[in-house]
Amino acid sequence: MLTKAPRGTYDILPEESRRWQYLENIIKEAAELYGYREIRTPIFEHTELFERGVGDSTDIVSKEMYTFTDKADRSLTLRPEGTACCVRALIEHNLYNGVLPVKWFYFGPMFRYDRPQKGRYRQFHQFGVEAFGSRSPYLDAEVIMLLVEILARTGLKEYDLHLNSVGCPICRESYRQELIKYIVPHQERLCNDCKVRYQNNPLRVLDCKQPECQKSIEGHPTLFDYLCPDCHEHYAQVKNYLQENQISFQHDDKLVRGLDYYTNTAFEVHIPGIGAQSAIGGGGRYDGLVEACGGPKLPGIGFAMGMERILLALEQAGINPSLVQNQIVFVVAMNEQYLSPAVKLVKQLRDAGISAEMDYNARSARAQMKHADKLNASLVVLLGEDEIEGGFVTIRNMSNKEQHQVGLAQAVEFINTLLASC
Ligand SMILES: [Zn+2]
Ligand SMILES: [Zn+2]
Repeated sequence: MLTKAPRGTYDILPEESRRWQYLENIIKEAAELYGYREIRTPIFEHTELFERGVGDSTDIVSKEMYTFTDKADRSLTLRPEGTACCVRALIEHNLYNGVLPVKWFYFGPMFRYDRPQKGRYRQFHQFGVEAFGSRSPYLDAEVIMLLVEILARTGLKEYDLHLNSVGCPICRESYRQELIKYIVPHQERLCNDCKVRYQNNPLRVLDCKQPECQKSIEGHPTLFDYLCPDCHEHYAQVKNYLQENQISFQHDDKLVRGLDYYTNTAFEVHIPGIGAQSAIGGGGRYDGLVEACGGPKLPGIGFAMGMERILLALEQAGINPSLVQNQIVFVVAMNEQYLSPAVKLVKQLRDAGISAEMDYNARSARAQMKHADKLNASLVVLLGEDEIEGGFVTIRNMSNKEQHQVGLAQAVEFINTLLASC
């Protein structure tokens, strides 16, 4: 127990964290290019925020939250997603009174008590963007274009972008009635959750994960058939802007988001062959969310992507990010009494922006050379009796084994030049 990370969590070891940094940099650059700025919110929030902002009829809130009571008896929850946190920050800092739209992105760990499986963890990481304060279909298209830009920069080509409109409260109400009528004769076959929720929230049956629920409502009417003229127009414009900008997508009227504050555009990115749940990210418009969380009537749109799932997709596509590793210079003190000049040289190299390492135990020269090899050092600098007495250093180029002797005063400059050609 003591020596094993909790179920559903894992360590990102240094080799692996390089892949993460690479992906994070790509995402950050793309988001900033599109005018989104980073926000960092707390890892835990008041439980009520998620009950309202994610919806207490969702699996996330009803089954999967890490909720705890602190020493002052507050109910707090480790964030299961990022959107509600951004909405809370927006309201708390009155940012809806400033320049609109407010455009944010975030990275970070999220927590859900879910059954762990390949690419799914209880502490997992999401990247997301949110844009508040505009109903323009151009903004919908922009957010989707940013998502596509990020995927293009990672090198992922095999993916499907699904697009749909989930309408507004007006068209959803007429659809809701029709859907309930359709479900009633099949209600016996629904899972226990759906039996309870279909009367109030029939759309939740559509995104229920139980295959039996999906089977029993096969052939159900779709929300798309009930869109009001305004919602049709909005959707047509989004599709038009995407087409004008060569973004390919497929209309998917099965794509729903079961909660009332989700409106109009909904989208998901699927990667074929990364497991049962092929979605690596998705999002949409949520014009009712800010108000539902206690803020003003303010439209919003965003998406979130699972970092683990993108990394998994990259791995399966055989895309290995080419990471530039720092060149390392290893300084070898041939004898314990040369440790002090070696430490000094290492410091001078680091001051010059050169990554330098040494062995403080002054083991045998052979052991130190092995160490340098393991670190993949580009150059090794030898400090032995001859060098110290003669006031020079011996530099060995590890790739061609050439050796150079240079005066100690010129060593750093010489090493810098030599590294450029390594
Ligand atoms: Zn509508
Ligand atoms: Zn169900």
